[in-house]
Amino acid sequence: MRCPFCAHEESQVKDSRPSEDNTSIRRRRQCEGCGARFTTFERIQLREVMVLKAGEPGGEPRREPFDRAKIEQSVALACRKRPVSPERIERLVSGIQRQLETLGDAEVESRQIGEMVMEGLRQLDSVAYIRFASVYRDFTEARDFEEFASSVREVGHK
Ligand SMILES: [Zn+2]
Repeated sequence: MRCPFCAHEESQVKDSRPSEDNTSIRRRRQCEGCGARFTTFERIQLREVMVLKAGEPGGEPRREPFDRAKIEQSVALACRKRPVSPERIERLVSGIQRQLETLGDAEVESRQIGEMVMEGLRQLDSVAYIRFASVYRDFTEARDFEEFASSVREVGHK
């Protein structure tokens, strides 16, 4: 496992135990290069989920594989300096991943995932929820505006 601090390829597992809800294994690792400690989680992936993102206004939507790390990052950012443990973030993201994998749809709209994250954060920490919602809503509104603007342009061409 590559060290997130110095990019060294080798690390030693110092401790390994199941998470609280027993759906993943939590490992404490130490980098053999710089000695930094970090945590990894091993978990089950039921199947690959594709995320559908709105593309350029008037263009085709883009598809990319569900990237758990991206969700984890934005949730961690929203929870920064809040009394939310890494385990709770892990459980929130795992819950979303599990939901997506069991939905039965091969594709999920990115908007739907955003709503799931907001719902999870709402129950976790109100400040983190507001942080995430303000960033996320701004983004959706900006995109909505682009869609609106492009529809106006299309009409203008006729
Ligand atoms: Zn390192």
